[in-house]
Amino acid sequence: MARVTEKLFRPDTPLNFLAASGETLEVASRQSVVLLGPPGSGKTSLVRAQAEINGLTAIETGNLLKQEIRHGTPLGRQIKVYTDVGALVPPALISRVISAELESLRDDLILFDGFPRSFEQIGLFFQLLKNWQLDLSAVLVLTLDLPTAIERLGKRRVCARCGTLYNLNSKPPQRAGECDQCEGKLIQRKDDTAAVITERLKSYESETVPVIEYFQANFKPLVWEAPS
Ligand code: ADP
Ligand code: ZN
Repeated sequence: MARVTEKLFRPDTPLNFLAASGETLEVASRQSVVLLGPPGSGKTSLVRAQAEINGLTAIETGNLLKQEIRHGTPLGRQIKVYTDVGALVPPALISRVISAELESLRDDLILFDGFPRSFEQIGLFFQLLKNWQLDLSAVLVLTLDLPTAIERLGKRRVCARCGTLYNLNSKPPQRAGECDQCEGKLIQRKDDTAAVITERLKSYESETVPVIEYFQANFKPLVWEAPS
């Protein structure tokens, strides 16, 4: 465990939490890391920037849910009812999506992006760790004030074709409305509109902050907080 944390985290460079890019991680047993932070704090960007860490796989909960919706499965249709309004998807559905993903993963280090996201998902989280024989190594928390989160989400654009993320202020595309990578059309996520953003931030305060408090109370040495 010590080896994983030494390799992965450099507390002096907050947004570079995951520091072992390109290296192969040596882990004694299968490990897991939880990544939490408000919408707009850059969880997914952080995860993708570190995709080259050998042996680490991220489970992007929000994207798995959206993938299920895109595939138009019965499960996807159930999920859509919640994501459309910025509400959390119930644990039973989350369990099916994440279990299916864990089933197909063989890596030794799993990073959970945005899970567990509510107090009621904590039981499910530990159940999944047990089922797949994963230890908990760290809980990373990105912090961000609400006005900045609202501002960032309103300016966020995503490529409809390849999913690359942009921000009209901090990371604009070279040509307006067009993806630098694939020339796909840049769109605003359906849940990045003002009304839904407000709901998602409220849900973060009421549902996810208690999860962070839980980890701080019970796993304090594993919790790493950094401003995003
Ligand atoms: P963000 O974190 O910016 O809100 P995500 O892409 O992570 O965006 O999630 C999009 C939506 O998917 C959320 O608004 C919520 O409805 C749903 N969702 C994501 N993760 C979870 C989770 N762990 N539990 C329940 N619902 C979730
Ligand atoms: Zn693209």
